[in-house]
Amino acid sequence: MRSALLACAAGLAAAVTFAPAGAADRPPPRLIVAISVDQFSADLFAQYRQHFTGGLRRLEEGAVFPSGYQSHNMTETCPGHSTILTGARPARTGIISNDWFDQNVGRADKQVYCSEDPAAPGSTFKTYTVSAHFLKVPALGDRMKAADPRSRSVAVAGKDRAAIMMGGYGPDQRWYWTGKSYTFGGKAPPAAAGAAINADVAAALARSAPAMPLPPVCEAQSRAVPVAGGGKPVGTGRFARAAGDERGFRTSPEFDGATLALAAALRREMRLGEGPAPDILAIGLSATDYVGHTYGTEGAEMCLHVLALDQLLGEFLRGLDATGVDYVVMLTADHGGNDIPERQNEHAVPGASRAADLLSPGTMGRALAAKLHLAGPVLLGSAAFGDIYIDKAITGPMRQRVLREALAAYRAHPQVAAVHTRAEIAAAPSPAGPPETWSLVQRAKASFDPDRSGDFVVQLKPRVTPVFDTSHGYVATHGSPWDYDRRVPILFWRKGMTPFEQPLSVETVDIMPTLAALIGLKVPAGEIDGRCLDLDAGPGSTCP
Ligand SMILES: [Zn+2]
Repeated sequence: MRSALLACAAGLAAAVTFAPAGAADRPPPRLIVAISVDQFSADLFAQYRQHFTGGLRRLEEGAVFPSGYQSHNMTETCPGHSTILTGARPARTGIISNDWFDQNVGRADKQVYCSEDPAAPGSTFKTYTVSAHFLKVPALGDRMKAADPRSRSVAVAGKDRAAIMMGGYGPDQRWYWTGKSYTFGGKAPPAAAGAAINADVAAALARSAPAMPLPPVCEAQSRAVPVAGGGKPVGTGRFARAAGDERGFRTSPEFDGATLALAAALRREMRLGEGPAPDILAIGLSATDYVGHTYGTEGAEMCLHVLALDQLLGEFLRGLDATGVDYVVMLTADHGGNDIPERQNEHAVPGASRAADLLSPGTMGRALAAKLHLAGPVLLGSAAFGDIYIDKAITGPMRQRVLREALAAYRAHPQVAAVHTRAEIAAAPSPAGPPETWSLVQRAKASFDPDRSGDFVVQLKPRVTPVFDTSHGYVATHGSPWDYDRRVPILFWRKGMTPFEQPLSVETVDIMPTLAALIGLKVPAGEIDGRCLDLDAGPGSTCP
C-alpha cells in the first residue's frame, strides 16, 4: 500500500505538471450530467453551503455561480426547467407557466398543462397525456443527437415536466415518477434498470420510515410554527412515514435517493460516457420542492432535507468516479422559493402576508360578473398572479369594459405590484443586461408568448404568498418575479478543473451554450437567449 505521504507527493507533482494547462486545452468530457434541484434557491445554497460535506461540497470546488437567474416572470417548475438545457427563455421555449388557458382547445376543459398534448385522445388537464408538444425549441440532448446520432440522451426526474423539459423531444430514455413508480417514455425500448429500481422503490414504500435523526445544525430550526389558512403547524417534521404513504415518500430525501438510484442504474446499463460520442444524463430531483411547499423553507424539514441531499449527491458522484468516465456535472434549480409568511413575520420580516382570496381570477371574475350583470366565469386563470384571460364569450365594447374594470380592481389592490396588458408587454423593451436590473414589465416579457399568454399579467408585491387556503397541505410557494424566486445557484464541476467563484449574476439560459461549448457542439447564433460561460479560471477559455 502506498503511503499517504507518497500519494500526497504524487498529487503535488501532478498539480505542478498539469495546473498551468487551462480547462480549454482538455479533450471534451464524455458525459454531461445535468442536475436540477427543484426549488433549490440561491438563498438555500447560501444558508447551508458552510455545512456541505458531500456532493454539493464537491461542486463548490468547481465553477460557482451563486447568483444564477431564472430571469423570467413566472418562476414555476415547467418554465424553469425549459430554460436549463435549451438556452432559451420562456418567451422562446413557449413554456410560459406550469399551465395556461387555451379557450380554443377542442375539449371542454380549457386549462392546458405544459407537458401534455391536448390533441391526444382523452388528454385533459387532470389526466393528461405527457408530451413535449408545447416545447418550441430543442434541448441539448436533441442537438447532440442531431450532430452525432451515436450520442445518447437520457432524462430521469421526479416530475414529468422536469423530464420533458430537460430531455426535449427525443431522449433515448425518459423516466419520471407517477405516484407509485417511475414510468417510461422515450425512443428506445425501456432499460431494464427501470423495472429493477421500481421493484426497490415498491419495497421501500411498503415499509414505514422512521423519523430521521436531527443534525445539530438543524436543532434551532426545529420549532412548531402555526400556519394561517387552515393548515397544520410546521417546523418540527423529520420525515417519519407510514407504510405506503406515497405523499410522505415524495416529500422527503427518500424520493431524491430513488431518482438518483435510477439515474445511476441507467448510466451503468447504457454505459453512458463510454460510447463513441458524448452522452447526456439529465436528472430532475423534485423532493426539495415538495418539502418547501409542505413545510416552508426555514424549518427543520428543509434543513434535514438539504443536508441529506448533499450526502445523496456525494454518493452518486462517487459512483460516477468509480466508472473512470470523464464527466462534467452541472447543478442548478428551476426556480427559488420563499418561506411561510408566519415564520417570516417572526424572523424579522414584518409585513409578509398571504394573498387575499379576492385576487384569484375565479373570485375576481364573480365580483365583476355581479357588477356588470354578466354570466359565466368572466376571468380565467390558475392562480392569484400571472396570466389572466377574459372569457372569449365576452366580446365587443363589453370586453373592453371588463378589461378596464379588471385592471382597475387589480391595480387598486394593496398586495398587487403591477398589472401589464398584452399590448403593454408587447410594446416593452426586450430584456437585456443583468437580470436584476430588468423592470417588472421586462420580466413579464421574458415569459410572454403572444399565442399563449393572458390578456393581462398580475405581479404581486414582494413577500406576498399566493396560498391563502393551506388546508390541503401546501403552505408556501414560488412563482413571483422577485429575486427569492428567480435566483438559483449554477455550479459546474469536472475533475481537475481550477475552482473559481463569480458572484455577479448570470442566467440559467447560459447553461446550455456553456455545456455545448465543452463538447465542441455548435449552436447557431440567434437560436438562443443565453451565452457561453467561460469555465476556465485563467486567461484560457472554454467558449468558442
Ligand atoms: Zn419547481
